[in-house]
Formats: sequence, C-alpha cells, structure tokens
Amino acid sequence: MLKGKTALVTGSTSGIGLGVALALARQGANIILNGFGDAEGPQAAVAALGVKVGYHGADMSQAGEIAALVAYADAAFGGIDVLVNNAGIQHVAPVQAFPAEKWDAIIAINLSSAFHTTRLALPGMLARGWGRIINIASAHGLVASAQKSAYVAAKHGLVGFTKSVALETATSPVTVNAICPGWVLTPLVQKQVDALAAREGVDDAEARRRLLAEKQPSLQFTTPEELGALAVFLCSEAAQNVRGQAWAVDGGWTAQ
Ligand code: NAD
Repeated sequence: MLKGKTALVTGSTSGIGLGVALALARQGANIILNGFGDAEGPQAAVAALGVKVGYHGADMSQAGEIAALVAYADAAFGGIDVLVNNAGIQHVAPVQAFPAEKWDAIIAINLSSAFHTTRLALPGMLARGWGRIINIASAHGLVASAQKSAYVAAKHGLVGFTKSVALETATSPVTVNAICPGWVLTPLVQKQVDALAAREGVDDAEARRRLLAEKQPSLQFTTPEELGALAVFLCSEAAQNVRGQAWAVDGGWTAQ
C-alpha cells in the first residue's frame, strides 16, 4: 500500500515509534528512523522487511537539528510522505516541585518538535499531492492525571495543534490526525511501573496490574503493533476523510 512512499517516524529506536515504523515498512514504505540509544538493531529490523531504511540522530528538542533531519530526508529519500511525530519523554512530579528544565524539555520534545517537522515537511507533501501526518498524543491529550502537568499540557497542545493543521489542510490530499494511546508497556511506562513497585512494596507483575487498574478498564496494555495497525489505516485511502481526530486506543480509559 505504501510502496515508494517515505515515512519519517521520530523517536523510533524504541517502543511505539519502532512498532509504527515496522508496521509502515510492512506496507512497503521506506523508513527514516530517529531517536537515541541503539539504532543498529532497529535499522536491521526494518531493512529485513525489504525497504530502504535511513537513520538521523537529531535531538527533537532542537529546532536546528530538526531542520537537518528534514534536509536529510529530502536529500536521501526525496522528501517525507508520512510524518509520524512520536518522540516523547515523561517526568512525574507535583507542579511546585517540577524542575523547570524538565518542563522545557517536555514541551520542546512532545509538542514543539511536531510544529517544526510539520512546518518543514508539509510543503513537500502538498507539492507532491499526498501526505499523512500522524501525531502520537496520549490519553493524556484528552484527560489529565495529577503530577504530569508538563506532559498533559504538551499532549493537550498536540491534540489542539493536530486539529488546527487538519483545518488548514482540509481541502488538500494531506490528512492530519492524532493517536491517543492508553498505557503501552514501553521503557517510558516501565519506569512508572518500577516507581509504583518501590512505592507500594509489590513485585513487577502486581505493579503492572495496579497501574492498569487505576486507569485502563480493559486491564490490558495497548501494544505498539495495535498502534502500528491504526497508523496503517490512517495512511489508507479509506481514511482520506478522517481529519483532525484524536483517536483513543486506551482500553476504555477516556470513556469513564
Ligand atoms: P520510549 O521511551 O520507548 O521511546 C521514546 C523514543 O523517543 C525513543 O526512541 C527515544 O530515543 C526517543 N527520544 C526521546 N527523547 C528524544 C529527543 N530529544 N530527540 C529524539 N528522540 C528522542 O517511549 P514510548 O512509550 O514508545 O513513547 C513514544 C510516544 O508515545 C511518546 O510521545 C509518548 O508520550 C507516547 N505515549 C506513550 C504511552 C505509553 O504508555 N508508553 C502512552 C501514550 C502516549
């Protein structure tokens, strides 16, 4: 379905981003990976699917490095057709104790990076006559939790940004949507499981159960594969009139 297209997935060396990148590669898309840590393993996993794969280590908190990433995509792949804004971090603390540098980093990586990639990639999509922008927001883009003020602000902002750009592009062949996962068992969430286990003196399995029970009525983690399948649908022609949505995959979290 996506043969000959190029997808940039930010923060795709791990977790949800890697799951989405693999799902798009299975549809034939060439993939540009980004993120910290081991890039060799993810690159090999994508290449094994028979598509072209590239990697750029831009720090998504830095506007200049984001511009270099998009320039790399233009030079090495002929532009970006599918943009998945996924890079994100978390920090948990009450607002009066929230480190100012963590606030700035969360807003930069989880929100402003999507502005920079979008403003730079959208003109090429419009010129080539097709595009998909998929913003990985969160259940926290729709509802709040205590101690996550920066994350909730960034994710609500990302949902608002999604709607605004979807309206600006509503008559074009470029669609813009957000995916709002509930709990997904990635390194980002395992840190919160570890903190709960330490706080409540329980083992890993019980900490996972309690974390889910607090928010996610299905009592199951959403998986990167499920999110990848939704991203593939949003890239399909059947989804060409799905615009400006914030689509929850959260086991009922935001239905409560
Ligand atoms: P993760 O920690 O497994 O992956 C995060 C990715 O972002 C990694 O590849 C990391 O290297 C990259 N990254 C972090 N800071 C970066 C930076 N400054 N520049 C470039 N890359 C950077 O986390 P995840 O759970 O897969 O999260 C992916 C996205 O999904 C995030 O936006 C997160 O907020 C969102 N999300 C996660 C969950 C969940 O339960 N895990 C739920 C809802 C939304």
